[in-house]
Amino acid sequence: MTDHPERAADRAAERALVLFSGGQDSSVCLAWALDRFGYVETVGFDYGQRHVVELQARQAVRARMIERFPPWAERLGPDHMLDISSFGAVAESALTADRAIEMQANGLPSTFVPGRNLVFFVYAAALADRRGLKALVGGMCETDFSGYPDCRRETLDAMQGTLNLGMAQDFAIETPLMWLTKAETWGLAKTLGGEPLVELIVAESHTCYAGDREHRHPWGYGCGTCPACALRAKGFEDWVAGGRLEAAVP
Ligand code: ZN
Repeated sequence: MTDHPERAADRAAERALVLFSGGQDSSVCLAWALDRFGYVETVGFDYGQRHVVELQARQAVRARMIERFPPWAERLGPDHMLDISSFGAVAESALTADRAIEMQANGLPSTFVPGRNLVFFVYAAALADRRGLKALVGGMCETDFSGYPDCRRETLDAMQGTLNLGMAQDFAIETPLMWLTKAETWGLAKTLGGEPLVELIVAESHTCYAGDREHRHPWGYGCGTCPACALRAKGFEDWVAGGRLEAAVP
């Protein structure tokens, strides 16, 4: 809205690939990309996740966005699902095996999958090269989660440089949520799609590590106690307490 028209026109010609898990963050990233770029495809990774629910949430979020937001439906291209289960086997952790979520001696939670975002970007970039897509959009965030070294913008700047050198490309890794709090991520959803988008994300996106789709809370479905639910609930409650404000579009 505050953009110069010529800049908005440039972006309309740009083509993007969103790393899309069906969680809250990547759903907001998908909305951000559909608002910003002229053409958007999505990619998901099956690395032997514990829960099929996450994969189903991806399709539900895409379907509801097509249904509720006609201008976005015109820009949304195909979804890709890449099987990287061999990586899951190497990087076994609490997300991919039945292990309790706890802090490890190195200060990282056991849910941390070493190198996961790096692998995602290598696969995403190879796909983007073939599909003629230039922006690679991911929901990584430093603000609330300082523990994941591959979510840092510094890591992703290095990754972008490596991909462009190694693939002779001109990719831009876009991380719109990088400096937002979880409350502001809800605010961004409201800016992009109003309360209908907030409701869509509450109802369809999935974050819970336990794969719980039975218990509905104001912030969505989940067990309510795992670290992912705790973070999502806290962000939503903070956003509500702050008056459900819109957030500036990064
Ligand atoms: Zn949970």
